[in-house]
Amino acid sequence: MRNILEVEKEDLLAWFLTQGEQKFRVEQVWQWLWGKGVENFYEMTNISKLLRERLNETFSISWPKLNKVSVSRDGTHKFLIKLEDNELIETVLIPEKDHYTLCISSQVGCPLGCTFCHTGQMGFKRNLKAYEIVAQVILAKKFIQEHGLARLLRNIVYMGMGEPLLNWQEVKKSLVILNHEKYLNFSKRRITLSTIGVLDTLRLFGDSKLGRLAVSLHASFSTLRTKIMPATSKWPLEELLLALEQYPLEPRERITIEYILLNGVNDSKEDALELVRILKGIRCKINLIKYNPWPGSAYKSPSEERILAFEKVLWDHNLTAILRKSKGEDILAACGQLRASVN
Ligand code: SF4
Repeated sequence: MRNILEVEKEDLLAWFLTQGEQKFRVEQVWQWLWGKGVENFYEMTNISKLLRERLNETFSISWPKLNKVSVSRDGTHKFLIKLEDNELIETVLIPEKDHYTLCISSQVGCPLGCTFCHTGQMGFKRNLKAYEIVAQVILAKKFIQEHGLARLLRNIVYMGMGEPLLNWQEVKKSLVILNHEKYLNFSKRRITLSTIGVLDTLRLFGDSKLGRLAVSLHASFSTLRTKIMPATSKWPLEELLLALEQYPLEPRERITIEYILLNGVNDSKEDALELVRILKGIRCKINLIKYNPWPGSAYKSPSEERILAFEKVLWDHNLTAILRKSKGEDILAACGQLRASVN
């Protein structure tokens, strides 16, 4: 039986027409699925009993399942989610001052193998389908509601496992559902997609106007960048910077540049000055992230002193730099630490 969550809207419409049903029924079903995340057709109370029965005989509704929840001392929740083929992904719910941010995955594993990233070490299994991406949001919303958590889910970041722009078609479909006012209704400024700079699809994302852009830069010298992020040799730094200069932004919008500080690797004054130089002409703000080591990682996090010195160079050159405090380190849920496992 086909999982209705994988069916395209046009195909469902065609099925409805063969059943002698009217067009608007598709929209009703779609709202139950993508707005409310229902788990069976009998919950669709504005649809006739007969039609619900026919839907039930023809399709299944098979959402990914919550497999395990780990809770950090700081209130971060890490969800281990099991997919239909038993693959596992991780999603992280991060408490902010008055809301939650959800960090979602776009692939099972990641093919890019950045040397500082835990996900990168697990290799690549497969792309997520659009419904598996959206399901992470629906699952988190239900979890918040069912557990009476005090904050609302307000921001979504595509910064979990995987490189979203290598899975652009499915990511795009998921963004449309997240954005849509009749479904999950997250505005563009509440959604951020983070990429290492896959130039083939970067501009498609920009032109889609479906979310804000964050770029994982992590090095200001091209040779160092390809050393710590080998896959970036395909999309040279110079070309990436040019693409960012030409990236379509709305009047007050800025690109977020992410820079993980690795002790003795990319955190010197020289690195900071080069960062200032290469970001000239790009409307951006910089998120500095202290490296979060994971078991067996080759890097260390810099001292507070080194981090502040790096940040100061940026501020002294009129760049907006924010030292982002990573959350969920104790449950390996912080930036770059995700690696789905049941242990
Ligand atoms: S940092 Fe991002 S792109 Fe690099 S390996 Fe990790 S998940 Fe993949």
